[in-house]
Amino acid sequence: MATIVLRNPRREVHVDGPKRVKVVLRDLDIDPETVLVIRGENLLTREDLIGADDEIEVRPVISGGAEQFTKCRRCGGRAVIELRRHNSAFCKECFLHFFSGQVKRAVEHDHMLDPTDRVLVAVSGGKDSLALWDVLMELGYDTTGYHIVLWTGEEYANESLRYSQSFADERGVKLIVHDLKEKSGFAIPELPATTGRTTCGACGLTKRHLISKAADELGFDAVAIGHNLDDEAAVLFGNVLRWDTEYMARQSPVLPATEEGFVKKVKPLYRLSERETATYAFLKGIDYQVEECPLVAGNTQLRYKGILDRLERESPGAKAAFYHGFLERGKPDMVEVERPELKPCVSCGMPTPADTCSYCRMVDSHARKRR
Ligand code: AMP
Ligand code: ZN
Repeated sequence: MATIVLRNPRREVHVDGPKRVKVVLRDLDIDPETVLVIRGENLLTREDLIGADDEIEVRPVISGGAEQFTKCRRCGGRAVIELRRHNSAFCKECFLHFFSGQVKRAVEHDHMLDPTDRVLVAVSGGKDSLALWDVLMELGYDTTGYHIVLWTGEEYANESLRYSQSFADERGVKLIVHDLKEKSGFAIPELPATTGRTTCGACGLTKRHLISKAADELGFDAVAIGHNLDDEAAVLFGNVLRWDTEYMARQSPVLPATEEGFVKKVKPLYRLSERETATYAFLKGIDYQVEECPLVAGNTQLRYKGILDRLERESPGAKAAFYHGFLERGKPDMVEVERPELKPCVSCGMPTPADTCSYCRMVDSHARKRR
């Protein structure tokens, strides 16, 4: 048996000889470029044979080079996740620290929340919104969950509610549930035929309306939404492709409260990628709905996400640079068009530039055409 002495940290392994250096290194998962292989006074190359009685030293030449594991950038322990865009890797504890640090930084930098704010967290049962709720609680915010049962699929809806409810029950926090069929008398899949809107368009309008209305009626100071870096970058990408400067000027991780009754809306996860929110949820033992909404297939935003993912694979960090660059350098130069004056919707009382808000118009159209 040949003895292979690995250095830093020092340990010995024994291998049957004769064997080529490259085979031994491959079996030990060591990149030949990062080490010197030494026998007595001599250096060995990849093709050299290690004999049965040899004693060989494998000496790292790049710090960390001969390690059997990736090191945590913060503590030097064994990493569990690599973040290429940050050129780093973290162990569990340090990743959780990094994650909540990014949320804290977003909240402070963009003046999203005051420490005493009562926050309504919009939860879908997926990784982003449950990770958001969890981290906001960790940071000490007074939170309540809000879940809409949208009925975009029987099983999907039941599961979404179950994940959201279990999360709340396990932590002893309150979840407000709005069942669309029960409380509003319709389900999302009925809307395209009667309103001329796409499924995702109708669903988005419904969510935005009901969340804002609940926050206003129940006196919350802020609504927190689980949109992450990937979501925001995909929306921006779509806006750029159309040069929709009006939307771009308004796209922001924080929408302040308005005098007319819109509660402040914040997206504290905008500095974190989808993979990072999934990692957080996994490491924190959060049970979440992994399945996508069954009606989302073909959604334009998902297509944009796919394109940005391909770009990110080739150039790690491109997505963050695209979105953060927009916030820091693009957006400040964009002039927001004067928005029309808002007044209460005659039907629901929420602020709108028309007599009736677009949600109420959609619901009216549905009620008329369904008969
Ligand atoms: P999505 O539009 O599905 O990407 O979701 C974006 C964000 O909207 C989520 O992170 C949640 O904060 C919120 N949201 C989505 N679905 C629901 C739901 N059924 N009930 C309450 N909030 C939701
Ligand atoms: Zn209305």
